[in-house]
Amino acid sequence: MRKEFLPFSTPTIEDAEINEVVDSLKSGWITTGPKVKRFEEDFKNYVGSKFAIPLSSATAGLHLTLLAMGIKEGDEIITTPMTFASTLSIPILCGAKPVLVDIEPGTLNIDVTKIREKITPKTKAIIPVHFAGQSCDMDPIFELAKEFNLTVIEDAAHAAGTEYKGIRVGSHDSISIFSFHPNKNMTTGEGGMVCTADESLAEEVSLLKFHGMNREAWKRFAASGTPNYDIVTPGFKYNMMDIQAAIGIHQLPKLDAFIDRRKEIADFYNREFAGITELALPQYAPYEQRHAWHLYTPLVRIEKLTIDRDGFMNELKKHNIGSGLHYKAIHHHAWYRENLPQEAGSLPNADYASDRILSLPLFPKMTDEDAADVVSAVKEVISRCRR
Ligand SMILES: *Cc1c(COP(=O)(O)O)cnc(C)c1O
Repeated sequence: MRKEFLPFSTPTIEDAEINEVVDSLKSGWITTGPKVKRFEEDFKNYVGSKFAIPLSSATAGLHLTLLAMGIKEGDEIITTPMTFASTLSIPILCGAKPVLVDIEPGTLNIDVTKIREKITPKTKAIIPVHFAGQSCDMDPIFELAKEFNLTVIEDAAHAAGTEYKGIRVGSHDSISIFSFHPNKNMTTGEGGMVCTADESLAEEVSLLKFHGMNREAWKRFAASGTPNYDIVTPGFKYNMMDIQAAIGIHQLPKLDAFIDRRKEIADFYNREFAGITELALPQYAPYEQRHAWHLYTPLVRIEKLTIDRDGFMNELKKHNIGSGLHYKAIHHHAWYRENLPQEAGSLPNADYASDRILSLPLFPKMTDEDAADVVSAVKEVISRCRR
């Protein structure tokens, strides 16, 4: 057995990131400033969006987006149950009601054929989540949005570098929200980015991110600026710092190589696990795409085993292999069971995945030996716990 514990994810931080952070610390300017501006430009160019607004998190990005759209009490927002807390909690905190649509069993992305039946006169937006870094089927979503005049907000937290039919996520005619949390495909420590082609939405989000001030703070203190400012609306404190952007500036040029390495490991897992009937492996969608492989999430067929998913994760831990849980379906969580109950059996694919899913280690710094250790641990647990 391997000696050291292998976590399911860990970021790749090298000298360039470290030196850039130190440079910020020594420069006397550590909060929002020139490095945030540079990261904004670099990221905007990479994804191909017209506007990009750097923020303290993706959660902040979703909050400001919904406020800028004027989402209010009684509005409905369609999304997937297979996602992180903030995709639903932010609409709820804005007074809206999330409406859940089941997932496809293979990709675990929202089932686009089931969206139409959930649209009502109260529906304002659809939030597709590009699960694990694989793009949702966007064409049917955009067609529905056009037909019913809905806004599409792509939860792109897993999808930096993802492409759909040759188009990079972030450059669609929509709003895309990226996360730079340490587990994501690239990091700024904590951080997020809202990308859009909608100029008035971009302006509103920019205004709300920093106290509703009509001028960037760092320009006020620069030699060329004036210290005066005006508050034109009550705003939040969701700005990204230069210390964060310093990391992002050096992560972004490595993103494509990170994704290539992630794909190599995912391909290796797919080859090694092919034919193991106790696992349902992640499937590629049939359309042209680039999967960013943020997560590798097989489903453990617990009906064929003597242990449940949590038991499986525990057995892996005994082999010094970490794993993650992305996700227990949102409607299985305590608050949602109480406050957003779903009719039993109405989300069968999400229910099935929720009890069986786990995230195996997948990150660019992993060695081939690490990946081989994961495979042998998974195979050992399955052969020992087979029914
Ligand atoms: C990580 C994540 C978020 C939130 O991102 P933060 O930057 O941590 O706020 C939202 N949605 C999904 C699907 C995520 O994985």
